[in-house]
Amino acid sequence: MKKAVFPGSFDPITNGHIDVINRALKLFDYIVIGVARRKEKNPIFSLSEREKLVKKVVANIERVEVKSFSGLLVDFVKQEKACTIIRGLRTISDFDYEFQMALTNRRIAPDIETIFFLASMRYTYLSASLVKEIASMGGNLEDFLPEPVITAVQKKLKIKTHQRPK
Ligand code: ADP
Repeated sequence: MKKAVFPGSFDPITNGHIDVINRALKLFDYIVIGVARRKEKNPIFSLSEREKLVKKVVANIERVEVKSFSGLLVDFVKQEKACTIIRGLRTISDFDYEFQMALTNRRIAPDIETIFFLASMRYTYLSASLVKEIASMGGNLEDFLPEPVITAVQKKLKIKTHQRPK
């Protein structure tokens, strides 16, 4: 069975992440979404809130499981008995960081490969931080986030977003 881990902060999970998951499911039999603690990123959602939101959003997608982890990513990948890390690539600005991380992971765990999926054109500029900025200014989030995530972000940031005219 080809099993891969898709790690990330998912603060919160966006349509861009879901697009990567759906692409990866064409190549892998099973995907474990690894929600990383990432305290240094000062996430707006706690680890368990992020994990719960991801679980809610992927509940109807088969062959996907959600777990949170702290510590080294490669240790988590080994623990899950997977041998591939999935990451998404949007613009060139992602490349430097992703390249550095993939090479470092390869150095400490040579048997684990990292595979990158190119973001869909419509989500190329979509990031969790952009979404939080749009949300804090009351912008419409329907194109970027799944419904349960919109509600959670609004609640967390205690703001009302504008409804799109019908
Ligand atoms: P991290 O803090 O580990 O970068 P993120 O949740 O920000 O966690 O991102 C997890 C992965 O998803 C990264 O590889 C990132 O490049 C990818 N990703 C984020 N947004 C998108 C998107 N809109 N399209 C494709 N990939 C994305």
